[in-house]
Amino acid sequence: MNRWPHALSVFTGIAFLTATACSRAANLPPDDDEARRLLASIHERYLEDRSGALPDYIPALAAADPEPFAIAVVTTDGRTVSVGDTQAPFVIMSAAKPFTAALVIRQRGRDTLRDRVGLEPTGEAYNSINVIEENPLRTVNPLVNAGAMATVSLVRGADPEAQWNALLDWYSRLAGAPLHMDDSIYESVRKTGLRNRSVAALLRSYDRLYGEPEAVRDLYNRQSSVQLDTLQLAMMGATLANGGVQPVSGERLLSPEDVTAVLSLMTMAGMYDGAGAWAWDVGLPAKSGVGGGIVAVAPGVLAVAAFSPRLDEKGNSVRAQLAIRSLSAQLQLGLFGPVPGDP
Ligand code: GLN
Repeated sequence: MNRWPHALSVFTGIAFLTATACSRAANLPPDDDEARRLLASIHERYLEDRSGALPDYIPALAAADPEPFAIAVVTTDGRTVSVGDTQAPFVIMSAAKPFTAALVIRQRGRDTLRDRVGLEPTGEAYNSINVIEENPLRTVNPLVNAGAMATVSLVRGADPEAQWNALLDWYSRLAGAPLHMDDSIYESVRKTGLRNRSVAALLRSYDRLYGEPEAVRDLYNRQSSVQLDTLQLAMMGATLANGGVQPVSGERLLSPEDVTAVLSLMTMAGMYDGAGAWAWDVGLPAKSGVGGGIVAVAPGVLAVAAFSPRLDEKGNSVRAQLAIRSLSAQLQLGLFGPVPGDP
């Protein structure tokens, strides 16, 4: 039998699949002005949307200016494009959680996080106490408050101060800039976080917190209070988009396998009880924070962050969700295939 026609059809098939895979992952327009115009049109479209509310359980966030709105993209080759209030600082809050999980995976391996925290999504609010009571693992996953406290308690360090320094250094390397904590938000969170205090104590009672509850809660509050801007948040995501190499410094921070683990967590639980609709509408691993920031990752292509303080009832920024959804639709970034156009 002549094998060549077969070889040719295999070759043609591979070429077709490659072309399809490449065309799935579009990218920003190569021209900077055009890319900026694209982001600016998205920014303008949602600027008038003032729905949602500031989080009322953290007084310093409840008193924030609700108006800022920024969008920033960092590509895997380190290109940056941003529009809107890009200088407006905000606090990272829960958008820190996947990055802390990444550090623990790097330090202790994927199995530690799997066994000592868990991987399953909850379909419940991020601060749910029911979930702890009902889930046999208690901690559930690293992106809800319970699992995030267990995760941060696993960061290596001789004492909480050393753990904090390691964490801040890690975020700074991801962001490509020295980050610091917003002291007034930290104070506000510290004084008012009664629910998180209960979460920490409850986990400890089940032996699922790996440190002294008040010290762990303090470390968690510190990580939540890290201040940054939209471009810096996008830059943190870009290391995940780039297979673990920080695209500007060129430093390898994570192995590709560890990145996959973090992105899978973000896909399942990054938007809490909104994760299913987010996967459906946007198709990208993402993480939100009640500071108003969201970061989403298109693996191999780019990371996008958006920031605006008003939140929906699930604690996710209204405008940031709309902006990222629109970008994903327009560039066809979604992992699962095409998503329909703008909402
Ligand atoms: N520090 C906040 C809390 O624990 C973070 C929550 C969030 O951003 N979703 O309540």
